Amino acid sequence: LSRSEPLTILDYMEGFLVSKTLFTACELGVFDLLASSQHPLSLEEVALGIRASQDGTERLLAACTGLDLLNTHTLDGQVMYSNTEQSSVYLTQSSPVSLTQSIHYSSKTIYLCWHYLTDAVREGSNQYEKAFGVKSEDLFEALYRSEEEMVKFMQLMNSIWNICGRDVVTAFNLSPFTTIYDLGGCSGALAKQCVLAYPECTVTIFDLPKVVKTSREHFVTNDNQRVSFHEGDFFKDALPDADLYILARILHDWTDVRSIELLTKVYRACRPGGGVLVVEALLCEDGSGPLTAQLYSLNMLVQTEGKERTAAEYTALLTAAGFQNIQVERTGKIYDAVLGRK
Ligand code: SAM
Repeated sequence: LSRSEPLTILDYMEGFLVSKTLFTACELGVFDLLASSQHPLSLEEVALGIRASQDGTERLLAACTGLDLLNTHTLDGQVMYSNTEQSSVYLTQSSPVSLTQSIHYSSKTIYLCWHYLTDAVREGSNQYEKAFGVKSEDLFEALYRSEEEMVKFMQLMNSIWNICGRDVVTAFNLSPFTTIYDLGGCSGALAKQCVLAYPECTVTIFDLPKVVKTSREHFVTNDNQRVSFHEGDFFKDALPDADLYILARILHDWTDVRSIELLTKVYRACRPGGGVLVVEALLCEDGSGPLTAQLYSLNMLVQTEGKERTAAEYTALLTAAGFQNIQVERTGKIYDAVLGRK
């Protein structure tokens, strides 16, 4: 055995210590406090500011420094703390590309589901009942078990498209498609990226009524003239006709059978010459990676009815629904794009 092997395993074994350090520093507002200060802060000042014990704060700040989330320097013999550049950009609530809401959802929802990963693997099903006492046949009734959970989920969905939304909407030239429906469009973050990239298009966010209401009130401002809403259930209600349907992180929630059912409805509603854009984290055909998509697929097991899939698997689903000329573009970021045409 090479000496590096047990080290890697130790890193994996203790990986959750890193996650929990990040969750806690965000929850206590360490990065916000440091961002709001004009100058680096001492341990005493941080402990006072986040209303925590000095001993605990000292260890937390040390671990954050070791993780390159904080910078330190010494002033008159005292250690002073400040945010690193990536912490200022991603870990402060006021940043336009903040990940703090996603971190909160990871900490308070996903982490609790992962506690039951062993059961999930054994049973092959999600763990809402054990983690939260929610027994529901309807996946999104469980996910949206309270108004607060729904808003937190929407914030989680929202944040990633500020970071890699442009890559997925420009993976193909979508300019021939002017009437676009974003099915399960949620907070509208991808719809906004789409209208920014294509000045001729309009995008309608189709989602469950309570999601649309929240999106209208909290996520999409009135000056976004080319983004509108449509309340509905994509399994039960008729789909309006359009040139392009976006299904971003939708199929990964569902079984193959339900995915084909949905795609078949989309195919029927689609105008001839139109298409469907599937946005997902694609697995490699040979099972070798990418690790993020492999871990996301486990996450789909603990949280949903679906899984992450390979390009060939999406191609098969699209073909079964009637779509043709299927093209795949890997963006090199987390999410990739698959385009099918009618
Ligand atoms: N497309 C968004 C994105 O990538 O950020 C959100 C993806 S989220 C995993 C799934 C979305 O599908 C949620 O917004 C949810 O409300 C919506 N959804 C779930 N079931 C639905 C249904 N039956 N009809 C319409 N929308 C639904």
